Amino acid sequence: MEVRIIVETTLENGTTKRHHLGRLSRTFRPTQPEGFGLLLEDAKTILGQLQKAILLDQIEEISQASRICPDCDGVRAIHDYRSRVLDTLFGRFEVKVPRIRRCACNAKSDVVLGGPLSPLAHFFPDRSTPELRRLQAELGARHSFREAARILETFRPCAKQVNTSVRNRLGKVAREICDSELTEPLVPSAAEEAPALTVFLDGAHIRCRPEYQKRHLDVVVGKIESHDKCRRFGLVQQAVLSPASQLRQDLRALGWDRGKTVTVISDGEPALPNLVRGAVGGKVRHILDWWHISMRIQHIENAVKGLLQVRGFSGIPVLFKRPAEALRWYLWHGKVLTATTSLQWLMVDCARLGTDDRVATEAVRRVQARCRDLYSYLANNMDNLTDYGRRQRAGLPISSSRAEGCVDDIGNTRMGKRRRMRWSPKGAHRVAVVRAAVLDGRLTGAYQRAAA
Ligand SMILES: [Zn+2]
Repeated sequence: MEVRIIVETTLENGTTKRHHLGRLSRTFRPTQPEGFGLLLEDAKTILGQLQKAILLDQIEEISQASRICPDCDGVRAIHDYRSRVLDTLFGRFEVKVPRIRRCACNAKSDVVLGGPLSPLAHFFPDRSTPELRRLQAELGARHSFREAARILETFRPCAKQVNTSVRNRLGKVAREICDSELTEPLVPSAAEEAPALTVFLDGAHIRCRPEYQKRHLDVVVGKIESHDKCRRFGLVQQAVLSPASQLRQDLRALGWDRGKTVTVISDGEPALPNLVRGAVGGKVRHILDWWHISMRIQHIENAVKGLLQVRGFSGIPVLFKRPAEALRWYLWHGKVLTATTSLQWLMVDCARLGTDDRVATEAVRRVQARCRDLYSYLANNMDNLTDYGRRQRAGLPISSSRAEGCVDDIGNTRMGKRRRMRWSPKGAHRVAVVRAAVLDGRLTGAYQRAAA
């Protein structure tokens, strides 16, 4: 079998062009399984040629159209031809692009503007197509840079990719994301009321490169949710001039406006809600994540259960069992003082429990340690506890588990400790920014808007 590939393009002025892209032969008799259908290498060659044919025709069309002066409809002269290298997803091409002289009809402004016009500069600001840039950034945010380069090269007839070019491209795209959000106008929310925003915050630890004199870097990751939208974010505080203003951009994108209250749900680390406080300039309602409390209660329940099972236990079981069980109920319903009192009584009862048995002493110590742990956790976060039961019945979030999903998605999958990579603050920040945008589908959206 012989396959001939012919492409026909029709320009806007009606000219039709035919391009012969080449031929494939699939001989019948000695056909091997790997000679069946279109192969990757053939497809890559054909795609490259197809891209070239379309690109050349398009450049011709654009150049012809831009020769017409918009003011007087006269034809402007071609000044010279310049060769340009254009990077696309389907190959790198060197093309001859005309530069066009300015028209004499508008001589005054020509003095100001000067120089010949370059009609293609608008289409390829970075000498590459937006699609290629987006894909490089996206793959670089999902895989190691070396792996991303390999994937691109395997499936696309694009120019040779190396890890550094993918990394640099990702850096540029990350900067574009940050800058576009700085200039993006505030979207006025349709609803009269401000949307209630909840920020779920958590941190991921990643390995730091040795020259920064630290073992680990903290990546702040999280998710901002309003009633109908959500947006992920990731940032490394050392890498940005003002982490607070960066976060403010993300809040703005979801309709936050100055003076509106934001709810933050995170674990007990004060640095995270403080970051949001800096971003919104005050008014932040911080709620301690229920899961972290629940886990500590569970530890106490288990320790008490262990104590009651010890053979040398000499106390009254119900004195230990009941407070341990009641703790969860009190805290769930926001009865913090009652909970701390019952916690204190539990500790007192443990101290009273005089026993010579080594195993029993060990079990008592464990209960006391767990109680102290919860007690200091509650004491440190007294202001951030709430009636979790009521919140949940009202359909409000009580746990930062959604942020923990982000920790995996943004931090650990790409930069986790298992991947054995070390990061500079800036590098980690860029990957976190692009990854959050990729996960939100913002990267494709931004480029689609730019292309429209
Ligand atoms: Zn003119």
